[in-house]
Amino acid sequence: MSDYSIETVCQSIDRSIADQWGAISFPIYQSATFAHRGLRDSTGFDYTRMQNPTRQQLEYVVAKLEHGLDAMAFASGMAAIATLMELFSPGDHIIVDADLYGGSVRLFNEISSKNGITFTTADLSRGDYAGLFQSNTKAVYLETPTNPMMNVTDIAALAGECHKRNVILIVDNTFLTPYYQNPLDLGADIVIHSGTKFLSGHHDTIGGFIVLKDEKTDERLRLIYKTTGAGLAPFDSWLILRGIRTLAVRMDRAQENAIKLAAYLKQNRHVTKVIYPGFTEHPGYEISCRQSRGFGAMISFYVDSRELVEFMLKNVEVAFFAESLGGTETLITYPITQTHADVPRELLEKNGINDRLLRLSVGIEGIDDLIGDFERVFELYDRQ
Ligand SMILES: *Cc1c(COP(=O)(O)O)cnc(C)c1O
Repeated sequence: MSDYSIETVCQSIDRSIADQWGAISFPIYQSATFAHRGLRDSTGFDYTRMQNPTRQQLEYVVAKLEHGLDAMAFASGMAAIATLMELFSPGDHIIVDADLYGGSVRLFNEISSKNGITFTTADLSRGDYAGLFQSNTKAVYLETPTNPMMNVTDIAALAGECHKRNVILIVDNTFLTPYYQNPLDLGADIVIHSGTKFLSGHHDTIGGFIVLKDEKTDERLRLIYKTTGAGLAPFDSWLILRGIRTLAVRMDRAQENAIKLAAYLKQNRHVTKVIYPGFTEHPGYEISCRQSRGFGAMISFYVDSRELVEFMLKNVEVAFFAESLGGTETLITYPITQTHADVPRELLEKNGINDRLLRLSVGIEGIDDLIGDFERVFELYDRQ
């Protein structure tokens, strides 16, 4: 890898496919197919389901950011995870973290299970892996910090346990992005991203990534990729490329805002608990300091009544009540009816996802306006 800083890598161009005119903004190659110069003389681009220059430029940047051998860009984060599951066969067993993005839980329960893959669910942040691995265990799948409970798992420690048993470790790095965390450097084998979130950063497109470092797995996944055809379209590839150019400055500001907003919420009389890995009392604080360069811009918090939840979702003005995360605008999400609506009840209860839990993706607005927005809502609620 180059020695350039991550801020500079965000601006890099793959010189092997750069256009002849020297465009600084990588062109959108809106072409389904590519002409050959002659028999057995391809330009390297044949058909956009398989390769496209704009998508390849995006994959080049994302692979570099995650210190991977290769990255594949997909039409969504879920398309990336669904394609990844094609690596496994009936009879295979996968250990998954108990707290995951709801769509991933639905994929594993509703689709992968039907294909003969079995799952064991466990809170991997506890560091207790005894009894989880079976003779047919092929992979461990997790997010850290998790969505929405913000549990932090020690990636290096778990990678050690996996590799002793020839099991691959898959980390969904959507929440922290390569700006704050590089799971492959910590021993993970595969990194997943919802590119929809911080990487694109503007709530304007959907995309996803698989990043990996092993040549054999790459060959297999590239075959699955070109065969199943969930690759990201050229224009959306360009949008994510454009988003990544400001990744560093957006993450810096969003995190700065998150730290201040989390501190404000913590002292509010209606807020019973704030979960943010940047708090020294967070159980994963020390692991975070060791394995990440930041704590991110995601906060979960409990308020003291369901009525207040409903009131807040109706009355916020700077923040938006919406699913998703990672954009320039602050979003407030209600996991129990939105992102985690399809997660089985008992798992929700076990994880602490109840009707008083809210999740915030903090954006880059003026922090006084953001805090003021919540302060106004709390005051209105008290006065009604
Ligand atoms: C949103 C999200 C996904 C799914 O990505 P899509 O782009 O919405 O398909 C997967 N994992 C995490 C952590 C997410 O936040």
